[in-house]
Amino acid sequence: MINKSRLIETMFELIRIDSPSGEEQQIAGVLIDKLKGFGFNAGLDDYGNVIGRIGEYPEILLSAHMDTVEPGRNIEPRVDGDLLVSNDDTILGGDCKAGVASILEGLQVAIETGRLNRSVEVAFTRQEEIGLVGAKNLDYSKILAKEAIVFDGEGPASRITSSSPTHVRFDIDITGRAAHAGAAPENGISAIRIASEIITRLPQGRLDKDTTFNIGVIKGGSVTNAVPEKTIVKGEFRSHSAEALDNIKLSIDNAVNQVRDKFNEAKIDLLTETQFDAYSITGEEPPVSRVIRSLASIGAEPVMAPSGGGTDGNILRQHGIESVVVGMADHNAHTVREYVSLTELVEVANLCEAILTE
Ligand SMILES: [Zn+2]
Repeated sequence: MINKSRLIETMFELIRIDSPSGEEQQIAGVLIDKLKGFGFNAGLDDYGNVIGRIGEYPEILLSAHMDTVEPGRNIEPRVDGDLLVSNDDTILGGDCKAGVASILEGLQVAIETGRLNRSVEVAFTRQEEIGLVGAKNLDYSKILAKEAIVFDGEGPASRITSSSPTHVRFDIDITGRAAHAGAAPENGISAIRIASEIITRLPQGRLDKDTTFNIGVIKGGSVTNAVPEKTIVKGEFRSHSAEALDNIKLSIDNAVNQVRDKFNEAKIDLLTETQFDAYSITGEEPPVSRVIRSLASIGAEPVMAPSGGGTDGNILRQHGIESVVVGMADHNAHTVREYVSLTELVEVANLCEAILTE
């Protein structure tokens, strides 16, 4: 039986440890101690991810991330009815501490009751929120399991992520020519002007049901009396469709080339980088059927839902670890309106326990 008050206590403890991306040292230490307390062999890999194992031939890797987004310092969690919430000037950090706490509770119950009947591994990663960086740098030589269950989805445990898009980031680096804005503007080439000409040629927002495009950052110029020489534009696009991705790449190339022709003395560099590749699941994969069986054993009905984002699951898959992402009871993630449903949180821990004791 999941101990609801202990689970909530763990949430309070973890949420009160500040862990913005890059500052996970303290929470990592606490998690290692907890795992060791359960009888795990646990420690940090060279990148600072927490890796733990109990038993010799691990079948499953349970995974969640330790970092949170900003504003995520001095978070004060409180229970409001069936919800766990924060004050309205910070996030709650339920993403992904609800996942971490549920894994810990599921493990503790399975171990205390002597029903843990398989060897398992745990990975608590760093810097998920800034591009799955911890998972990309995880020491895979220390991970033996070939199946992973990632507790980092939105909503209830029964919500299984059915697909995740390819995610591409791009930088457009523009160098024009500086000149005095009043005395000799004709000698200048405005990098900000060039950036705006490119941006107006690019799409924006939701392009179709599977595809999104966003310019998220623009930086250029420093004073009003100079023609700006440098501007950087940063953006991203995501799609489940390879054809849509190709079309977007083409339209960025076209926009940049058109503007290059128009401002042929300027230098415009385009750099694109794929952050992670799309995947979709059929439901037949071993970790997916494992989750579906365990959901059935706790009386929950699986719901397959596509995701617009990536998780460590995308990276684990690229390293040959078949992965499934389940909900962790968190809602409105990355906003100050974030909350965790306590009823759902207990169900997530129940799912974890069921997976461990099946
Ligand atoms: Zn997350």
